[in-house]
Amino acid sequence: MSVKENLLNIQKKIEQACKRVNRSAEDVSIIAVTKYVSVETAKEGIEAGIHHIGENRDEGLIKKREDIGDDPTWHFIGSLQTRKVKNIIDKVDYIHSLDRITLAEEIHKRASGKIKCFVQVNVSGEESKHGMLPEQLEPFFQDLEKFPSIEVVGLMTMAPFTDDKSIIRECFQRLRKLRDNVQALGLPYAPCTELSMGMSNDYEIAIEEGATFIRIGTSLVGKEF
Ligand SMILES: *Cc1c(COP(=O)(O)O)cnc(C)c1O
Repeated sequence: MSVKENLLNIQKKIEQACKRVNRSAEDVSIIAVTKYVSVETAKEGIEAGIHHIGENRDEGLIKKREDIGDDPTWHFIGSLQTRKVKNIIDKVDYIHSLDRITLAEEIHKRASGKIKCFVQVNVSGEESKHGMLPEQLEPFFQDLEKFPSIEVVGLMTMAPFTDDKSIIRECFQRLRKLRDNVQALGLPYAPCTELSMGMSNDYEIAIEEGATFIRIGTSLVGKEF
């Protein structure tokens, strides 16, 4: 299957999922996660109509952006080491993995303008997962006032690795509630309107639960390495 065919197939599933819950498909943006594929395949995605690209490593992001250019919107979706912030800060439009105050401090220090961030949440509390625990969110959001370059546009999570769809759904429902709670704080630097959740295996559930950005790698662009 070509990237174009995969995209058409995914778009159809997005529309069906939106219809089930009375949402508009226009409110769901597809981020093509290109970490496992070449620049050529990523370009095939752009030609097929992809507008958002996600990478989880600084090297991958820098290389792809050099070759592809500024046209798509660039998302950094992986866990981000503080010392690597300077490598990517001018090359990304969104960072999906803000999960600690030291990282916020470094992003603020290095940013030349406002930078849109998602706060990553470890909804299930699994030890292996990155992200903040739900109970850490409110004090964290209050602390972010010190770093005005950061604009928190939403929350991000990765669902637990399981075939049990009810567990996955519950994770997405909880992220949405947490997002609503943050929104209710009314912080000017944290409009927090977006939800970055859903990957190849669970994006339809994520859309039913309110995802506005889905991050799709394997089922869209494949896996070459
Ligand atoms: C790799 C990755 C994805 C995409 O995963 P697929 O299962 O290949 O769709 C999404 N989000 C993050 C944070 C990732 O690292």
